[in-house]
Amino acid sequence: MQENIKKLLIQQVNKELASAYLYLDMSKFYKTKSIEGFAHWFKKQASEELEHAEKFMDYLADNDIEYKFEPIEVLAKDYKNLKDPLLHQLEHEKYVTSLINEIYRLALEENNYPLVRFLNWFIDEQVEEEKTAKELLEKFEYVENCKMGLLKLDEQLKAR
Ligand code: MG
Repeated sequence: MQENIKKLLIQQVNKELASAYLYLDMSKFYKTKSIEGFAHWFKKQASEELEHAEKFMDYLADNDIEYKFEPIEVLAKDYKNLKDPLLHQLEHEKYVTSLINEIYRLALEENNYPLVRFLNWFIDEQVEEEKTAKELLEKFEYVENCKMGLLKLDEQLKAR
């Protein structure tokens, strides 16, 4: 396996952990505003990101690739309103998709089929992540100016 692919796989562990950190921050933002459903939804999202990091860690361990943990970047921003994190989430997931796509491109380039197969799960997952982020943003936009609607959506998100 090329060194640059190894480097990107190791980096992806860190990127997934940074995603978890970002979504925990968003969860905290909603929680402090008593928007419990959104807070819960982003907490679950953070757990998923942790699982993504663990999948990459397992792959690296299974392939005897050694690495050290690096500091986790703080991607959190100052959110001005309830919509801000949702916009940021969609933008962030598109960025993560671009990272996965780049590793995929390199794996294909070196005919590394086991890695391609491993990454297929992430390719599908990113389609899902972008779709979910977009749907949540759109639902929010429907009820943006209606407090009752917003509270109802918040109720629904508790079920995730
Ligand atoms: Mg992820």
